[in-house]
Amino acid sequence: MLGEEPHPPYERPQLSKAMLHAPDAPVAYIKQASDWSDILAVRLETGSAVIDCDADRRIVATADGRSFAFDRLLIATGTLPRRLAALENSAIEIQYLRNVEDALRFRKSIHDKSRIVIVGGGVIGLEAACAAAKNGCRITVVESEQRLLARAFPAVVSDLVAARHRSHGVEFIFGATVSGSSSDGVRLSNGADIAADLVLVGIGVEPVATVAERLGLPSAGGISVDAYGRTAASGVYCAGDAALQFSRCHDRAIRVETWANAQNQAIAVAGNMIGETREYGDPPWFWTDQYDLNIQVAGDMLEADHIIRGDTNCGKFSVIAMRGADIVGALSVNSAKEMAMLRRVIAADKRPARADLESSAYDLRAALK
Ligand code: NDP
Repeated sequence: MLGEEPHPPYERPQLSKAMLHAPDAPVAYIKQASDWSDILAVRLETGSAVIDCDADRRIVATADGRSFAFDRLLIATGTLPRRLAALENSAIEIQYLRNVEDALRFRKSIHDKSRIVIVGGGVIGLEAACAAAKNGCRITVVESEQRLLARAFPAVVSDLVAARHRSHGVEFIFGATVSGSSSDGVRLSNGADIAADLVLVGIGVEPVATVAERLGLPSAGGISVDAYGRTAASGVYCAGDAALQFSRCHDRAIRVETWANAQNQAIAVAGNMIGETREYGDPPWFWTDQYDLNIQVAGDMLEADHIIRGDTNCGKFSVIAMRGADIVGALSVNSAKEMAMLRRVIAADKRPARADLESSAYDLRAALK
């Protein structure tokens, strides 16, 4: 297993959650470094960036001049943060949040009680804002859309999350981006200046496709795979954030940028690489924790009719997304048990009657029978 980072594999969700909330929270390594070799017989080569791949000779080459032969190859290179061109070569400190070093750097900054501008009101921006606000930092989030997490949340949930942040002192500027900077702060596209000590940029990610490109695989928007994780190159597979896979909920191919997909698609694809037959098609699912809100999203919430179950005013409810008779997505706010049921209903492609779903008395377990 070749990885560019100097660390053994670790969990990323903690980088924007637990690691930012406690000054001494450790890195969440998946296994002790020695377990990879001693228990799993995996040769782990950290600090080994793969820069070339020869499809005919079936060899990958690393930046430090070594080469490794393969019979089958898994590309699990994930994504890197999209850079904000307007802030390259800036006088002010710019941070991104993707790896352990980024999380340790940002954690130190928020303990210095900085004035922070966060560009992007997505999951990175909001989880970072939550940790920084709790530490007494002054936070302004600049989001190009008119509301938060517009691609994943219905408006009622965007508004709830924004209100929770505002009650902790976070300010929002919508419909704008950062267009320039000075040593004192940033200039926005709407002409406003905001004083800041540092800027955190969380404006989405791009797939890392170096290996796929060397193999001549099309990689615009991700590396295409079938339901078994196979790319168009013989014996070459892809899983995780970089894989472009068909999603039944979205009715198109998408990249699924979630922890659950990185784990579960990889497990299925690894099975296929050793001769098993495992079709993978889990509905996408992620969660985010912000203050007292645990929000979970499954499937696709966009371009669908929404049914609300529960009371939005008491901060405990769920939203079901329907396209015709199909349930294509679900979102829960502080309703983890209901989400567990909804995930099963979506995965099993069950179609309970709309009138039943609209009744809060309806027990979702009935839909699974
Ligand atoms: P997201 O795509 O979640 O959010 C980025 C946000 O920034 C979007 O609302 C986007 O709007 C907005 N945006 C884009 N460009 C600009 C701009 N120039 N100025 C202002 N706003 C802009 O990406 P993140 O960076 O938040 O997250 C990165 C990755 O980390 C993702 O893969 C995410 O899934 C993962 N992650 C997951 C977490 C979880 O599951 N809880 C937690 C943290 C990270 P628009 O949609 O219009 O582009």
